[in-house]
Amino acid sequence: MKIRIHHFFDIIRDFGIGKKISPHPYLHVYHKVAQYILENPDAGFEIVVESDAICDGCIHLVNSMCDDLITHRTDFISKEDFNNYIDKRIIKVCNIETGIVYTPRLLCEFANKYIENIELIYQGNDLEHTLLRKENVLKGLHYYSEKHGLGIKCRT
Ligand code: SF4
Repeated sequence: MKIRIHHFFDIIRDFGIGKKISPHPYLHVYHKVAQYILENPDAGFEIVVESDAICDGCIHLVNSMCDDLITHRTDFISKEDFNNYIDKRIIKVCNIETGIVYTPRLLCEFANKYIENIELIYQGNDLEHTLLRKENVLKGLHYYSEKHGLGIKCRT
């Protein structure tokens, strides 16, 4: 299964919020991928910087690209461009490689670098929102680690 790294951490954040992840009006399958990750810490995921398994069926997926727009930045309008930008920043900071298959268990090992650098990664987003993301990713990691006995130690 292909996954964008920011989608993976979004899912971990949502575990931290304790959110009931339901089908979305855009008809993508975020909820199904989240459930799969929740239940399968050793499943294989290829990290990509392009549309991923979550985008399947989405009304905004056109010719394998996202045609949705964002409104929370002054420097980006295209969600596809912004997603690619964020994914590349996370990949660089965490030293993750595209085209390699990782398990959620292994991706969680990179979370400390993601969390430590979250303000840099999301620079340009609302800071309060980024700090809330940080708090919820930490909670999500703790929850996921406890659920599967992963023994992940968060340094932050
Ligand atoms: S196509 Fe765009 S809006 Fe739809 S799931 Fe993918 S990234 Fe999100």
